Amino acid sequence: TCRCAKALQLTLAVIKPDAVAHPLILEALHQKILENKFIIVKSKDIIWRRADSERFYAEHKGRFFYQRLVEFMSSGPMRAYVLAREEAISQWRELMGPTKVFRARYVAPGTIRAQFGLTDTRNTTHGSDSEESAQKEISFFFPEFCVAEWMERAEPAF
Ligand code: ADP
Ligand code: MG
Repeated sequence: TCRCAKALQLTLAVIKPDAVAHPLILEALHQKILENKFIIVKSKDIIWRRADSERFYAEHKGRFFYQRLVEFMSSGPMRAYVLAREEAISQWRELMGPTKVFRARYVAPGTIRAQFGLTDTRNTTHGSDSEESAQKEISFFFPEFCVAEWMERAEPAF
């Protein structure tokens, strides 16, 4: 691979139930992904059972927002994507903006959460926060997908 190129990276991006419920918002977010030069490697629509939600967010168990979070994330359909790009993880998180919607509106008004978020919990999108969590979260949503194999095949082409 070329030494001057930054490494190609995969991330898991999820459009949460609050946004999927509104077709125009879902469409706007899909366009945003494309405009920002992400490659859509995989995508699917999925509805979680409460147990899926609890397992995915196990690290937040005990926090005051945990119950409402797991309830919300299993309340309706979501759209999950595996996205590829240079710096995919940080670039997607930058597009999303800060976790808390009202903070996002204040410090990063152009971001997805600032534009479309409803509350600190119903904040429109998820994005992995590290390579380690991206690996874990991609297999959570797409157990059949092998990150290492995809990288091996794709990276030389970039
Ligand atoms: P992020 O999604 O930005 O990585 P966290 O991993 O800290 O944020 O939290 C996971 C999710 O839990 C958030 O996206 C949001 O839906 C919810 N959440 C986090 N913090 C709060 C909070 N203070 N109040 C309500 N909901 C929260
Ligand atoms: Mg997180």
